[in-house]
Amino acid sequence: MSGLPVEKNGEYEADIVGIGHEGEGVGRVSGYTLFIPGALPGERVLVKAVKLKKQYGYGKLLRIIQASPDRISAPCPIYSQCGGCQLQHLSYEGQLRFKRQLVIDNLERIGKLKVAGGTSAASSGKSDEAAGAAFQDASHAAASPSTAATKGIVVHPTLGMEEPWRYRNKAQVPIGFEAASADREGGLVGGFYAQGSHRIIDMDECLIQQENNDRVVAEVKRIARELGIRAYNEETHKGLLRHVVARYGFNTGEIMVVLITNGESLPHVDELVGLLRQAIPGIKSICQNVNKERTNVIFGDKTKVLWGDDVIYDTIGAIRFAISARSFYQVNPVQTEVLYGKALDFAGLRGEETVIDAYCGIGTISLFLAQRARQVYGVEIVGEAIDDARRNARLNGIRNVQFEVGAAEVVIPEWRRQGIAPDVIVVDPPRKGCDAALLATILEMRPTRVVYVSCNPSTLARDLQVLEEGGYSTVEVQPVDMFPHTVHVESVALLVRNGTDR
Ligand code: SAH
Repeated sequence: MSGLPVEKNGEYEADIVGIGHEGEGVGRVSGYTLFIPGALPGERVLVKAVKLKKQYGYGKLLRIIQASPDRISAPCPIYSQCGGCQLQHLSYEGQLRFKRQLVIDNLERIGKLKVAGGTSAASSGKSDEAAGAAFQDASHAAASPSTAATKGIVVHPTLGMEEPWRYRNKAQVPIGFEAASADREGGLVGGFYAQGSHRIIDMDECLIQQENNDRVVAEVKRIARELGIRAYNEETHKGLLRHVVARYGFNTGEIMVVLITNGESLPHVDELVGLLRQAIPGIKSICQNVNKERTNVIFGDKTKVLWGDDVIYDTIGAIRFAISARSFYQVNPVQTEVLYGKALDFAGLRGEETVIDAYCGIGTISLFLAQRARQVYGVEIVGEAIDDARRNARLNGIRNVQFEVGAAEVVIPEWRRQGIAPDVIVVDPPRKGCDAALLATILEMRPTRVVYVSCNPSTLARDLQVLEEGGYSTVEVQPVDMFPHTVHVESVALLVRNGTDR
């Protein structure tokens, strides 16, 4: 491409000035931006330009000339092949600083919001040293709306994990064949898809997976090989075992295994159940889910219990949850408690309030809030999740919560017409953020507080701007590391209506 300061396949030295959304280094070569996977901010690298567009391009990291002090060697031996984690080459402290900075950058650039100690921190990176050092420090400056307006939003240091490994309570492992020859299928393997392909690479250990889940998957593979159960072949749509899903209750030790099969009948099923029970003491539930579709969606519609219960239980804080084969349940239960604790703290409940929980899923946050509110209303678009939410409310004897299926932007205006007047609205939307109609309704309902739980800082920033223009001030934002070693950034923000005391 002419007119660019770099040429395709040319080799250049680049300074890395930031991290992109996928964890790649953002490099500059004579003012031109190259995204360089594997490079870290502060580094100088030798890069080969591989793909060029007008505004930016992509480069392949050839050599690190000057390494970042935050660079470490990734602990996982298959890190570069797997792609499930993106930040293992960055120290954990560095990851926490990166996640906070990403929130700040989005608030400033997309939300046009003022962040306390913001832009200067973004350019110097200095004030972040304190942030990294204090990453386990939950204390925060008691910000108030008036200080927020003058000094800007307080973005706290990311709350990280003390032990940021083995945190996932669910494994979903694709099963397939070892690459053999074109006309002969190799042995059964299970692991992950090689990057950019559908070839399955066998894996026995994943460092972010709870050990029990690794063990369950390894045992299923061993037993399936022993019994001659055939792996599913995506290309021919033949074979039986498609996925193994293992779920583990961190606080109860209960284990569930789900075999997803391309067809109803499972040969040697009694033997299979017997061997699994023998191999995995403490197992509570063995299920089969049938998925006969040509699809990369994991689960089909039909689930049978082969042995044991249809659910396992786990607790978050004082609340007990029933988890079925297909239930949505937060994958990092340790940090979920931290996140929801923060949301509850931000809600500032005294026991008399009416609270709405929009995008409530299986009611996790609603049930947390109900412990300290007069009445909670939860709304969620997936009917099955609302069934779970109601069941979980009953399981915990919580009666001051009401759940409704529907779109938040449709149901909440309806609640408004019925005269429901919330003191606090909590939202926890998917990545695309809140619907504009919901934001408008929030502004009409004028709750004292809005608590915004977000898995995407860019839509968080966009929505906060709308609420700020409508008469709210963002007081503080707390990033919480729910997914160590990945680029996912979760945070919770507190907004207070202007003219009310915190
Ligand atoms: N608060 C829950 C789930 C949050 S995930 C928890 O912490 O467990 C976001 C949820 O929003 C998903 O369950 C998704 O099904 C739901 N959702 C997506 N669009 C929606 C909409 N327009 N109205 C209501 N819920 C929606």
